[in-house]
Parts: sequence; C-alpha cells; structure tokens
Amino acid sequence: MEVPLLDLRAQYKTIKSEVLAAISEVLDSQVCIGGPKVQELEAKIAAASDCRFAVGVSSGTDAILNCLMSLNIGPGDEVITTPFTFFATVGCIARVGATPVLVDIDPKTYNIDPAQIETAVTRRTKAILPVHLFGQMADMDPILGIASRYDLAVIEDAAQSITSTYKGKKAGSIGTAGCFSFFPSKNLGGIGDGGMVVTNDEALYKRLMLMRNHGAEPKYYHKFIGANFRLDPIQAVALLVKLPHLEAWSEARRRNAAYYNERFAGTVVQTPFISPACVTIYNQYCIRVPRRDEVVAHLKANKIGCEIYYPVPAHMQECFSYLGYGEGDFPQSEKAADEIMALPVYPELTDEMKDAVVDCILTFLR
Ligand SMILES: *Cc1c(COP(=O)(O)O)cnc(C)c1O
Repeated sequence: MEVPLLDLRAQYKTIKSEVLAAISEVLDSQVCIGGPKVQELEAKIAAASDCRFAVGVSSGTDAILNCLMSLNIGPGDEVITTPFTFFATVGCIARVGATPVLVDIDPKTYNIDPAQIETAVTRRTKAILPVHLFGQMADMDPILGIASRYDLAVIEDAAQSITSTYKGKKAGSIGTAGCFSFFPSKNLGGIGDGGMVVTNDEALYKRLMLMRNHGAEPKYYHKFIGANFRLDPIQAVALLVKLPHLEAWSEARRRNAAYYNERFAGTVVQTPFISPACVTIYNQYCIRVPRRDEVVAHLKANKIGCEIYYPVPAHMQECFSYLGYGEGDFPQSEKAADEIMALPVYPELTDEMKDAVVDCILTFLR
C-alpha cells in the first residue's frame, strides 16, 4: 500500500468549492495586496492565539525576520537559539547581522534545553529564540525566567505549532512575539507562502506593521528601513476557509499519533515524548529507530513516505562554519539528527494506512 508523507490533495477536496469561491471574490474586488481579508485573518489568528495583535507577512521566515528587525536586533547583538531546527530560525538571526548563539536540545522533546541557556547569556545577548518543534512548545517557564532576569526579548518560532499549548497558554502568546508559517505543509497551510507575527505589545505591533511595508509612515516617508513582508489576500481567504477546521485536523493528528504509539509500544521504536505541560498539534510525528538510514530506505522502497527533520544541525551547516562550532559541540542535536525520522501523520490517514506504515517498519527491524 502506498502512503504519502502528506497528502494535501485529500484535504483540498473537502474545501475546494469554498476556496475557489473565496479566491474568485478577491479577484472580482481586485484588492490584491492587503485589504479587509488580510485584516480579518489577522483578527482571527490573534484570537485563536490569545494575542491582542497579529501582523500578516509573506512567510514564516519573514515573520522571524520582521520580529528581529522590529526589535532593533542587528550587528553586535547575540540571539540564543537551538541548532536543531529548520534553517530559517538561525538564518534570520544571521541575516540581520546578529550572531546566533546555539544551545543544545533536551533529547526527549527536541526543544532547546532551558538548563543550558543561562551560561550562554552575555552582555551582548538581546533575545532568546526558542523553537516549538514538531508541534510541541518549548519549556517556556524557565526561558521566561532567564529572559526577565537579563531583560531579553523572547521570540517564539511557532512555525510548526500554531494553537498548541504550554500550561494552557497558546503558542505565540507567552513571549514578546510569536511567529507562524503558513507554508502548505504546516498544520494551517496556505496555497503558497505566508506567515504571521502575533504579540501583546502594542508598540512592537506598530513597528511590525510599518516594517512589513518598507518602514513607511505616511506613504513615501520612511521612518526606518523595512522591507516588503506583506501577505496577499489570496492567501488570507484560503486560510480563512481552513482555519475553522484547524482544531479538528489537529485532533485527527493526535488520534493518529495515539494509534502509532499503541502499535509501537514494547518495540525498539522510540515514540515521541509529549510533556504533560503541553498539548501538541503534531506537525510532525517523529520516532527514533536503530539503523535509521536503512529503515528510511526500506520505507521509500515500499512507497511509504517518511522524511528526516533535520539531518544536519545548524552548527554543522557549511554556511555557519564562520560561527566556529564543530562536531561534538551539541551532542544531543547531533544524535537526534542521526536517529530521528518522521512518519505520515496527516489528518486524512486511514487505519489501514497507519498499519501499513507500522508493519513495514516492524517487519524490517525484526
Ligand atoms: C517552516 C518553518 C519556518 C519558516 O517558515 P516559511 O514559511 O517556510 O518561511 C521557520 N521555522 C520553523 C521551525 C519552520 O518549521
């Protein structure tokens, strides 16, 4: 049986007529940049995240970039983050001219290990950028404690974790600002690139709004050097159609995960650890297995989708060699990169498909 890692067509089928009607409405209006649909999405994402403000932007990457620029973080500044993340997290810090300072992960959750953050703080540290990886939020209480002791901003990279919670609090609502991605493979995915920043800080909100439009206020009078970080209404209306389904889709992912957990119980397969403080949205369901590369090859040969998130931690990337880190510096991140693999967990999976995934892995490992 063929099982793709993600099947966006299965989801699209269920909302196709609504999406097409909404896009047609945008085209009829010819409001193709910004406008009321973007504002409506911002209000709804702010509400869904328990935040006062939201700013639609062009991608999750640009959400992080806009945050860093709006917080005036640049050359000479340091930002603490994790090496075990998608490239954009660390890439954005470097792009604004600041220095990424890396801290290893907790091997159980794959999120930044708060116990190792404080020793990384220097006089130059301006912010902590925790990533809520795979749908589960980082351990935020100790992170906020350190941030308040040293007067640091906290930027949540919640690209994979929209509406997930930590001690009942929504992703993006705890730090200074939170960043979401609407990349199509995220739980709330657009029909192209898109992203959003949420915050409860009104002054920061105003800067984020100006920064996404070249720092202009009024038009053609530029207060600071921003960029074009705008979100298109075509994306906004597609996301508005999908948003009411988000909770049910995330619940379906949790059910799929529970099914896998049960079937892998008592085997050599290490299933995800979800902290009792967190409700995850399972943007990814990641296991650890012995002989990982052979298991991946075996699944692919049997037309079962899987992927390695992420095979190379940031400190081992060629482009970050100038940071001076080397192999062995972040052993938990390196070990995770060698052992981890993601399985299909998208909402439309059937029990038959999940059984095919599990059987394929277990017969190979036996
Ligand atoms: C997807 C993702 C991003 C970037 O989002 P884009 O919309 O692809 O630019 C940033 N950080 C993490 C952790 C992500 O998963």
